[in-house]
Amino acid sequence: MSEEKKKITIAIDGYSSCGKSTLAKALAHTLQYVFVDSGAMYRCICLFALRNGFVSNGMVDKQALIERLPEITLSFHKNPETGDQAILLNNEDVSMLIRSFEISQSVSQIATIKEVRQKLVHQQQLLGQKGGIVMDGRDIGTVVFPHAELKLFLTASIEVRTQRRFDEMFNKGQEVAFETVKQNLLERDRIDSTREESPLRQAEDAIVIDNSNLTPDGQLKQALELVKEAIHQQLA
Ligand code: C5P
Repeated sequence: MSEEKKKITIAIDGYSSCGKSTLAKALAHTLQYVFVDSGAMYRCICLFALRNGFVSNGMVDKQALIERLPEITLSFHKNPETGDQAILLNNEDVSMLIRSFEISQSVSQIATIKEVRQKLVHQQQLLGQKGGIVMDGRDIGTVVFPHAELKLFLTASIEVRTQRRFDEMFNKGQEVAFETVKQNLLERDRIDSTREESPLRQAEDAIVIDNSNLTPDGQLKQALELVKEAIHQQLA
């Protein structure tokens, strides 16, 4: 098989707001692979939980949510107007709604629930069955695709990450104080790294990219070199 035709699985993990989705999207676009933002899936479950009153005062009624999980279907579609990927929660496009700060404040708690993770990991693995996929998240290289041919672990300083998330929210008209954004990122990182169920950690065979001082293009260039090497190794 020629190098161009060999399609691999690319797993991208890292802390909150490290630019994982930006890189995953750009890689998938360049390589003509499927892109899956697994964080968006956890955000959808969180939205469902909030809408059904299963989150109050920062506490999640886990049992109530677990009982309703079979009702939840998630799917990805291309938005015909923007060409961007949209995520549908029970056939409703919630791509914008899941980016609210309210969701960011509760999603990591939702992501600690074993039954939620089992449901989503199963769907993620089905999406990746044929290879030719770039998926980003927290447990992609360790749990979802432990045999991925290329695993990247992104890092960036907390100041850089906060500034990026702050700017992103500001541009969408969401005015949240810089310090509040920073505390949310740190808290999500803490919950994600210390939870019992598939905690966020760097896979042993992951390659670390610190993008604190990289532009999105610079980061893409580095990653494309690594993709080339990974494909080459498969064919060797
Ligand atoms: O990637 P994003 O920041 O949108 O993810 C939202 C949250 O979903 C994370 O903070 C984490 O708690 C959870 N998540 C996860 N496993 C993944 C992807 C996201 O636990 N694979």
